[in-house]
Amino acid sequence: MTHKIAVIPGDGIGIEVINEGVKVLNCVSQLDPKIQFEFTHFPWGCEFYSKTGKMMDDDGIERLSKFDGIFLGAVGYPGVPDHISLWGLLLRIRKSFDQYVNVRPVKLLKGAPCPLKEKSPKDINMIFIRENSEGEYAGSGSWLYRDKPNEVVIQDGVFSRVGCERIIRYAFELARTEKKSLTSISKGNALNYSMVFWDQIFQQLSQEYPDVETHSYLVDAAAMLMITKPERFEIVVTSNLFGDILTDLGAAIAGGMGLAAGANLNPEGNFPSMFEPIHGSAPDIAGKQLANPLATVWSASQLLEFFGYKEWAARLIDAIEYLLVEQKTLTPDLGGTAKTADVGDAVVAYLQKHF
Ligand code: ATP
Ligand code: MG
Repeated sequence: MTHKIAVIPGDGIGIEVINEGVKVLNCVSQLDPKIQFEFTHFPWGCEFYSKTGKMMDDDGIERLSKFDGIFLGAVGYPGVPDHISLWGLLLRIRKSFDQYVNVRPVKLLKGAPCPLKEKSPKDINMIFIRENSEGEYAGSGSWLYRDKPNEVVIQDGVFSRVGCERIIRYAFELARTEKKSLTSISKGNALNYSMVFWDQIFQQLSQEYPDVETHSYLVDAAAMLMITKPERFEIVVTSNLFGDILTDLGAAIAGGMGLAAGANLNPEGNFPSMFEPIHGSAPDIAGKQLANPLATVWSASQLLEFFGYKEWAARLIDAIEYLLVEQKTLTPDLGGTAKTADVGDAVVAYLQKHF
């Protein structure tokens, strides 16, 4: 089957790492002719903005809607304000295509650096399901009495029943399929509308999934437990803001930004889903072949999984783990001296040798 993939390398190291992701997916196609990709590159991002005043073409969303998936490097660069690059491309795509599920694996592979000295890969193996379309990032609020002494700013959190139910249900379904426990992270004691509502819906849905073991933690306690007892978490479901923060914490305990991937899913497939490494464009190291492409390879694995190629998805993770254990072909962030492209080549070599 041929999957049409829109490739948006974006800015900075995004351009370098996405090359390696495409290289690896092409290798999968070579090894397994049943899996074919047709890649179309789009030159959108901050350079495009500096030439046109836009982060993407006006008909960009319409053009992307014809694809089966989107593979994104990173967007944002000094000189273009963050809110322009973010809202002009990344958030626009997420919202237009109702990619309401953000899946972020927090899995410590063998050989990956972990700051928690007494923890091992068996202790850190979770999947975060973050609400990706509303909540604290709904973007609504008001600014009252601007520049007056009684100035007040209100930032709304928007939690709809449909929005909460669909993300929590997605997490329950995943927990059921994977035969893992599900933990909800919220803050019902302080956020007396939104999180009480969230907790209520979690409780209601749990009645439909008596086979799934559930836990519920306040976000502050959860942050502490992710450090002291990460083994308590398997599948985790949480709101947009809490998920944003906790998955960065997750990246830190599972090997760092160079290994952290994220999928933005529209599970029903009404619109394309998007796969990306969660790091930014890292201008400090851009253009020097210093960037670690393994997060992008991991997001390529998520792409394969989403299209139903579970076995190949796992093989890509095996390849990453092999490189981490071998410690021979790693970029400087993981203590090595290899170039970005060398790491991509090493993943390809592993796949060619083993499958
Ligand atoms: P953003 O503002 O979008 O978060 P950023 O430029 O701040 O982007 P981050 O992704 O937050 O970049 O990363 C912070 C730093 O971590 C980078 O400046 C870089 O030094 C390092 N880093 C991030 N990703 C990688 C990577 N893939 N390989 C190596 N180093 C990385
Ligand atoms: Mg950053």
